[in-house]
Amino acid sequence: MKKRICAYCGNEFGKNHQRTAEHIFPQGLLELYPYQDVSFTPEKIFKDNSGLIIADVCNRCNNEVLSELDSYGCNLIKTQFYKEIEYKFKDETIEKEIDYDLISKWVIKIAYNYLRSRKNECTFIQRYIPCILKRSGALEGFSIFLGLHMNTTPLPERCYEYQPLCIIENPKLIGTSLGISMRFNLPFDLNSIIIQGAYEKLLIRLGNLIIYLIFWQEGSDRLQETYDQVLIKNFNLIKIVKGKCKYNLKRVTASTNMTINYGHILSKSALHQDDMLLESTLHGKSVIETRNLFESMRSEEDWKKSGLMVEREMFPNNRKVRDEFEEVFGKEV
Ligand SMILES: [Zn+2]
Repeated sequence: MKKRICAYCGNEFGKNHQRTAEHIFPQGLLELYPYQDVSFTPEKIFKDNSGLIIADVCNRCNNEVLSELDSYGCNLIKTQFYKEIEYKFKDETIEKEIDYDLISKWVIKIAYNYLRSRKNECTFIQRYIPCILKRSGALEGFSIFLGLHMNTTPLPERCYEYQPLCIIENPKLIGTSLGISMRFNLPFDLNSIIIQGAYEKLLIRLGNLIIYLIFWQEGSDRLQETYDQVLIKNFNLIKIVKGKCKYNLKRVTASTNMTINYGHILSKSALHQDDMLLESTLHGKSVIETRNLFESMRSEEDWKKSGLMVEREMFPNNRKVRDEFEEVFGKEV
């Protein structure tokens, strides 16, 4: 049975609080990525992002506080995390300006919407709702780390399952590159860090912004401090803190994040291993030379055709996909 109260203000749906649909990924972000019309959850793939909606938010919350947060967040991504970051910045830091309160509330809201849509336990988020609704309460009991997504491989990003918007539950924090583990037959979670004392850990990718979010259990202050330090020291993750708005962010992407997405984040030294391993396969050519060579061998037409073939296979019942496919390849018999 559908819930009868708003997941934010708690008012019963009715004339004054009408039930509305809220996107997990805000509409403004979906519009930034019109070609990314495939959304992923662990079990489902959707066309046109239609699947990732929840319908337990009232029109007041949706149109007032939540849409204010969305407009901050979408603008942040559009102006600072949209344009592809060039490979030459791989080992550089890039300065970004971020409002601690607004991004924290926005990210917590996205996490809350996601967890509800997955029917995961998320009562621990309720403590933040008064604050999101600008009533009262403090923003504490969580850690938000930021990093940059950047393609470090010799192939263009569109060769992979391009997912500029995604959420991953409990990503692994690993200290050895997957390539090394594979080559020497080591366990994949070698040197991995397991975070204790947390209700939930999520990785959220929004364009080039990688967010690692930990919700701490009550009474885990000491653990939080310890883990925060471990992550800051060993990973390219930067923790956002109240009162600070300028951050020098670093890339967190390994080649394996391009091929199998963000179920894992590598430590600084593992990223280094990953880079070296990759370069060793290029026979003296640089990553950029190899990528340019690859691009020059494929036309836009080739890209379109291969994309359509994959989509036709993935979404056999989608009419839009069928029409586009038939326009290029002719009617199917
Ligand atoms: Zn409401």
